[in-house]
Amino acid sequence: MLKAENQSYWLDRETGRLRIPIRGTVGLQVILPLSEWHRSFLRNPSWKLGSLTVVPGRITVALRRAPPKAYEPLSAEAFDTNEDSLDGIVAERDAVMAVTVPFGGVRRVQATHFRRRRRIAKKKAHDWRVARRLLRAEGRRERHRVLQRLHQVSKRVVASAKARRAAIVLEDLTLLGAGGRSHRMNRRLSSWPRGELHRQIEYKAALAGVPVIKVNPAWTSKTCPVCGARRRDRVGQDFVCSVCDWEMDRQHNAACNILLSALASHEALARAVRFRPGALRDDVVSPLYDLSALPASAREEPSGVESQTVPSAPCWNRTRIYP
Ligand SMILES: [Zn+2]
Repeated sequence: MLKAENQSYWLDRETGRLRIPIRGTVGLQVILPLSEWHRSFLRNPSWKLGSLTVVPGRITVALRRAPPKAYEPLSAEAFDTNEDSLDGIVAERDAVMAVTVPFGGVRRVQATHFRRRRRIAKKKAHDWRVARRLLRAEGRRERHRVLQRLHQVSKRVVASAKARRAAIVLEDLTLLGAGGRSHRMNRRLSSWPRGELHRQIEYKAALAGVPVIKVNPAWTSKTCPVCGARRRDRVGQDFVCSVCDWEMDRQHNAACNILLSALASHEALARAVRFRPGALRDDVVSPLYDLSALPASAREEPSGVESQTVPSAPCWNRTRIYP
């Protein structure tokens, strides 16, 4: 309906009074309902007003801020992005550990909504208008549930990196080819908003001054981080090197290689971090942050679906994360 640049509207950052001049002294005035969350940004003068967008039912005011200069990292957190967790290696000067960050059941949310959409499509097949409306609402609910969980994850990953003065290392998903996977796997990978999680981590890291390094994901799950040998066959749950005696679960093995790629291309990081995969204690995976300190996560999925047992044991327990 309307898009205005910041010099063509006026906003009182304290009260939320928005004025859009139309011509001469004629204008439009709206009081925007502000929450404490809105005010926390509006009160901070380093956030400058950007463009204003008015569409039916919604007014969007963009705020912008130049990111601070990223610090020189003293450690690294490298992550392999999976369907229901980030699995990573945290390497400091003299210490290294395998970590995991569960997404709080994103995969379960997606599976639930996938089933429900299919059921709606079947039951309302005789009335496409009703079906379309219900499917849209269903998609919106799914999106909200998934986004809420991803925001929790990205926020905490960035906070933990900042506390360690670490660089975050991720796969560059734009380089990920689609070849060599089954149709079913492709559907699961594309339905999974990995790109959205990376986008959130990148912008939150930029605002916090945390450096982010992207590496090419090719071969990360099929290379031995100790001797460099590659497996050309399918790698199962565990990567087992065919040349040396290295063995590790495939996600953390991939994270080792992602970290090694970053060290190979960033001198400063390589000086700060010494990484020997052999120093990883076998089978010990820690949570990246203390889960018990988290507020109760988003409400459970509505019933009406097959009941699935949710692991009550700590979710970083290996046997539970990789069912
Ligand atoms: Zn090897």
